This record gives sequence, structure tokens and C-alpha cells, in this order.
Amino acid sequence: MKLTLRLAVQTIALLLLLSTPFIASEYYVTLLNYIGLYALVALGLVLLTGIGGLTSFGQAAFVGLGAYTTAYLTTATGLPSWISWASGSAWTTLIVAWAVTSAVAFVLGSLTLRLSGHFLPLGTIAWGLSLYYLFGTSEALGGHTGLTGIPAISIAGFNFDKSNSIFYLIWLFLLSGIWTTANLLDSREGRAIRALKGGMVMASSMGVNTSRSRMVIFLLAALMACTSGWLYAHMQRFVNPTPFGLHIGIEYLFMAVIGGSGYVWGAIVGAALITILKQQLQTTLPSLIGSEGNFEVIVFGVLMIIVLQKARDGLFPALATLFNKVFPKTNSQEKSIDANAAQLAHREMPKAGDVILNATNVTRKFGGLVANNNMNLQVKAAEILALIGPNGAGKSTMFNQVSGVDTPTSGEVVFMGQSIIGKSQEAIAKLGMSRTFQHVKIMPKLSVLENAAIGAHLRGKKGVVASAWRLDRAEEASLLAEAAHQLQRVGLGDYLHAEAGSLALGQQRILEIARALCADPCLLLLDEPAAGLRLKEKQLLAELLIKLRGEGMGILLVEHDMDFVMGLVDRVVVMEFGQKIAEGLPQEIQENPAVLEAYLGGVA
Ligand code: ADP
Ligand code: MG
Repeated sequence: MKLTLRLAVQTIALLLLLSTPFIASEYYVTLLNYIGLYALVALGLVLLTGIGGLTSFGQAAFVGLGAYTTAYLTTATGLPSWISWASGSAWTTLIVAWAVTSAVAFVLGSLTLRLSGHFLPLGTIAWGLSLYYLFGTSEALGGHTGLTGIPAISIAGFNFDKSNSIFYLIWLFLLSGIWTTANLLDSREGRAIRALKGGMVMASSMGVNTSRSRMVIFLLAALMACTSGWLYAHMQRFVNPTPFGLHIGIEYLFMAVIGGSGYVWGAIVGAALITILKQQLQTTLPSLIGSEGNFEVIVFGVLMIIVLQKARDGLFPALATLFNKVFPKTNSQEKSIDANAAQLAHREMPKAGDVILNATNVTRKFGGLVANNNMNLQVKAAEILALIGPNGAGKSTMFNQVSGVDTPTSGEVVFMGQSIIGKSQEAIAKLGMSRTFQHVKIMPKLSVLENAAIGAHLRGKKGVVASAWRLDRAEEASLLAEAAHQLQRVGLGDYLHAEAGSLALGQQRILEIARALCADPCLLLLDEPAAGLRLKEKQLLAELLIKLRGEGMGILLVEHDMDFVMGLVDRVVVMEFGQKIAEGLPQEIQENPAVLEAYLGGVA
């Protein structure tokens, strides 16, 4: 009953939108057209900035690229033959505009996406300004006067030359953009994209190619902006550089942030709010203040500060909460686990006792400090090895050397017969190494299930296009089923749909183990897995690790909890001051005088 009401309200809203051109005056239809055009650009920013964490002030330049490409091609005379084929129809110029934008965005992205911190936004300002001046100064593009005489878009002889006809094109593009973006985010690629913000180290250790994911969202955001520009040029029938300047780029960012930069529907909320507010303020403010000027910018600035202070996530989540309260959703929104999903392929495990990880003479210096000095360490298949030592002994540093996060100053690390020195995290993950982190790295807002599923990234293949068009459902079902299976195995089966951030710290550690297992590894690296666990949880963890060992898994753990270590592991390596001071069976280590002196004496 409740669900049907909810659905009914949503359907009515959509029907109302679709019938606007028939029931509303031209003024409102035009307003909605602008909101749609802006929302399309803001949608790209939701993906790029809100979800991917990459701030761009330069989106207006991509809008301009779309607008000018089609304006130039449809109005220029005497085009050379290699391109003249494209000038006949707005639809062919759209394809050219997409190609031009992809090329430009690829080059700009390669140059700027590597920049960290505030250098990236500064970079986007730089190219935002450059493209704007290119539009304004290029004679072929009409300088500051721009280009006129752009034809209307037409399909089979029907011209979209009125605001109440192009309305349908604009909103069709926008709603398909929202649909495909939402699909994309709800997929293997989407998890990789969501992990970009705050989870890069974790994601790359799970085999996600994070530079590729960044480029993907950068290109998609640019293409959405380009499409908006293409529609704009054919709606206005003329273009000049003004709407593609940096200040408009900033307004797009306002829209995305104020609307709700992490939510696809936030793009519409933000675009509507800013567009309507701008119009109102432009008429009322100058008369209030008594002089001409773009005073609305000040109001936007203040609004932005309030939103950043009071509602980081923007207005959409608040509206959505309200809507959900009035029209509650049923649990059908939760991801269902398909018990019949095809099982993912498994790696062939190495033979028990084979050396799978071999670190020899590993030295790591930080300036004058030798954090690891000539360290040797081996892990065999079906063995649990503990690396222990007092604080500052160099355990985490050693962990980073063998996991490929850091590169030794000298020495060699071989995993599954291959040197991993200089190899990417992705390549190392492919070889079968998987890890957890001393300081838990999860995506707190995603469900426990989705967090675990990030671990299975390399076991899927479906890319951006397949995800956006829902051609990935069979594979996605297998990935989620695997994630659910691993979660049940570690004892988190009751929490599949809970927000990962709501778990207790101990459970979050266990979640990390499930995520690591989703990668189907043959070597598991655990950095202090028992920290923060209750006694019962420790026992369950120990049981799990013993079971994994029985299946042929090699396990290296760094641990402080001696009771946990001594009852569980096969061998122990003890470090002090960057060096190995002892190695042997737990029993031998407990009785080793050097170890007692260095470490256990103080702790045990
Ligand atoms: P553990 O994990 O055994 O407590 P670490 O490996 O974290 O020890 O640290 C070993 C030593 O190396 C410490 O003295 C630490 O300060 C130093 N160290 C670790 N990482 C760095 C780094 N990135 N730069 C400089 N010094 C570091
Ligand atoms: Mg440490």
C-alpha cells in the first residue's frame, strides 16, 4: 500500500514534468529548459566532485566546447571535405563534439588529474580560463560577438525550434544521464569510483586502477557538459563566450554542492535552486541596494558557506529523508543476494609448504634512519607467520615493503615467483596478495556488502558502458553473492545491508578480512587484526585463520596481542630496531632470552 503510494507520487511528478509544455506558460517552460541544461552539467560534477572527490571549476569550458563545435560546424561555409560530412545535421555535430571533448578532456585530464590537493582545482581554473579566452579571441569563432544562425535540432523533419519542443530533448538527455549515472554507481565500476574519495590506497590494494577510474569520471563529466552546450547552442540559435566563463564554472560547482554533491538527483535540486534564486535576486537585489551589479554572487557565496557548515551533503539528502518519511520505502530497495548466481572462478592454490613470499636483504632507509636493516622473511603456503616486535621496530615498514606499497632502498621481494619491486598495486593484487590495514580503511557510507564487494574487483570484467546500461547484472550478482558468502564466513552475515560505518571497530576489522578474502588471495597480509576485538571475537578470528590455513592460504600477520599470536601461528619473526633478532616456533620465541629482553619481558 505504502509502496504504491510512493510509486504513484513519483509517477505523477514525472507526468507533471512531461506535461509542463502543455499546461505551463512559455516563461516556466524556458525556466525548466535552463534548469535541465544546468542540471546536466551539475550531474557531471556530482560524479566528478561529489562522488569522486575531484574538484573542477572548469566545467563551463566543456559546455563551451560542445556549443562552439556544433555552432561552428553548422554555420561555417567552405569546410574542407574531411569534416564537411558532419556539418549537415546537429546529430552528426554532436558526435564530433563528443569526440573533440573526449580528446581535449583526455589531454587536460592526463595533465591535471595527477595533481594533488589544491593543485587540481587550480589546474581546472587555468584551463577553464584558457578555453574561455580561446572562444573570445578566435576569429573563426566570431570573437566576442560569437556565431549566429545555428539551425534547430531536427528528427525526421520535425524541428525542435520552440522552447516547448526542445524541452523534451533536454529532459530526455538529463533523465537518461541520471539513469545511466545511477546505474554506473551501482556496479563494480561504481564501487571503484566511490572509493576514489578517501579510499584510494585501499582501492588500489584491491586491484582498482585508480588513475583509470579518475579519468573515466573526468571524461563522463566533460561529455555531460559538452552535451549541455550542444543543446544550448541549438536552443539559443547563437553562441558567444559569456556563458562559458570561469564564473559560470563556479556556479555549476555551487549547484552540485548545494543540491547534494553525492547524489544524482541533487543535480536537479541544485540547478533549480540556483537558477530560480539567481533570477529572483537579479531583479530584486539591485533595486534594494540601489545600484547595478551581480550581487546574487554574494548571496550564493553566503549560501555555500551555510551549506558547507550545516549540511555538508547538500539539500537533496534532507529532501529525500523527508520524502522517505512521508512515503516510506519497503526493503525491496536493499540489494538482494541471488543464491543462484554463477560462482566466480577460483585461483589454484600453491602447494602447502611452498615458499610464496620471499623477502631477502630488505633495507629501507628514511634519510638517516634505517627502519628495515637487511631483513629476511619467508611465508609458505598453508602457514601462519607472525611478525612481532616493540613499537617502532619497523614492522609496518616491513609490511609495506612486502606488500609493494613502498619500495625498499635495497633488497628483493619475490611473490609467487615474481619480483614485485616496482610493480603496481594492481599487478601485485592480481598475483594473489590481499591485505587489511592497521588503521581500518572502509567506505563508511556504503553497505557492509558493497564494502566487501570492492575486494572482488579483479574477479569481474564488466566496464563503464556495460554498467551504465545494466548489461552487467549477471556478473554483479556473482560478485555480490561472493561478498555475501565471505561475510557470512567471517560472521558478519547479519550485517550485509548495514552501513559499514555503523559497525564496531572490531567488526570493521573483520569486514576488512572478508573484503580481502573476496579477492580470492593465496597470501593474506593482516596488520594487527586482533586489535579492538573482544575475547570471543578473537577466538572466532583465530578459528577462521586456522580454517584458511587449512585451505592452503599463506598468512602474514603483524600483531601485538601475544596470547593471540602464540596460540595460533606456526612461526614467529621478531624485530627490534629494524632488524630480525629471532625467528622460530612460538615456543622457542617465548623462551628466547634476547626476545624476552627486547620485548616480551615488558609485555607478557
Ligand atoms: P612499527 O610498525 O614496528 O611500530 P614502523 O615500521 O612504523 O614501526 O616504524 C619504524 C621506524 O621507521 C620508526 O622509527 C618510524 O618513525 C620510522 N618511519 C616509518 N615510516 C617512516 C616514514 N615514512 N618516514 C620517516 N620515518 C619513518
Ligand atoms: Mg605499526
